Amino acid sequence: MDYRILGKTGLKVSRLGFGGIPIQKIDAEGTRQLMVRLAEEGVNYIDTARGYTVSEEYLGFALEGMRDKFILATKSMARTKEAMAKDIDISLRNLRTDYIDLYQVHNPGPKDVEQVTAPGGALEALLEAKAAGKIGHIGITLHSVELFRQAIELPWVETVMFPYNIVETQGEELIKKCAENNIGFICMKPLAGGAIDDASLALRFVASNPSVTVVIPGMAEEKEIGQNIIAVSDASPLTPDEEKKIGEVRDFLGTNFCRRCNYCAPCTAGISIPAVFLMEGYYSRYDLKEWALNRYSQMDKTAADCIGCGVCEERCPYDLPIREMMKKANEVLKR
Ligand code: SF4
Ligand code: SF4
Repeated sequence: MDYRILGKTGLKVSRLGFGGIPIQKIDAEGTRQLMVRLAEEGVNYIDTARGYTVSEEYLGFALEGMRDKFILATKSMARTKEAMAKDIDISLRNLRTDYIDLYQVHNPGPKDVEQVTAPGGALEALLEAKAAGKIGHIGITLHSVELFRQAIELPWVETVMFPYNIVETQGEELIKKCAENNIGFICMKPLAGGAIDDASLALRFVASNPSVTVVIPGMAEEKEIGQNIIAVSDASPLTPDEEKKIGEVRDFLGTNFCRRCNYCAPCTAGISIPAVFLMEGYYSRYDLKEWALNRYSQMDKTAADCIGCGVCEERCPYDLPIREMMKKANEVLKR
């Protein structure tokens, strides 16, 4: 296993990490078996989130007696000091530990970043938890390039997690900047949320970028661990044959794929457009059908509310046919 230093945190992490979303579809005992295998293989980075329903709890059960073998990272959508302090304590309890290595601000929007850093914001709770030894380091997870650019200038940001894969290379320059600024870069969505079928090619693409510190594909089956280790272990430049295959994937997916940048907001009907497409992706490509339907049903506005005004399409830098995609999402996700 190849290990890298996770930027300012100084943590030595395996290049392959474990993404904790898919364990929601197995169980706590299955998660334990995965953890045993990961420990045997030297994979030491585990990513989860308060928002991934039972993920933290399954990991807490699974890591009993093995906590010291792993670097644990989680995240919270809390934006205020009070809510973040509460979430940190819940994470500690769920994960059955007294220390979380990395705690991240989960996907803030522009206004959220202001709130998080203002007096009474979530950052105060994170700094207090760090001083108290409850957490070791503070990071941020993002989907917008503009916020990524801003985040690497923030003094408290030790790591950034951002989507990076064959069809989402919009953060590439900033990923390089992370390496130059000693900020750990955690690659999320290496398989574009399950859109890329060839997992080995997708991970080879990410691993061939030396500025990526750790990549965290979601895994729910033991056989995926071995395949992913092989793909990530090869950090050599891409071969002409791999470049050709990557071009084919881009041709297939590149034009009609939501990058979740949210430049299309605000929607006239109040729909969170990238959230709709994300849930559709989880339903159609990630085999998380019940979870996706459940999350979708909790959204205030759904694809069914689209009035077809088209203003979002004018704002989308990728020229996505959002209205058509909304219709398709509505077909797929309606009960
Ligand atoms: S076309 Fe639909 S999704 Fe786009 S802004 Fe109008 S209502 Fe929202
Ligand atoms: S629809 Fe377009 S603008 Fe909106 S989040 Fe997706 S890629 Fe970005």
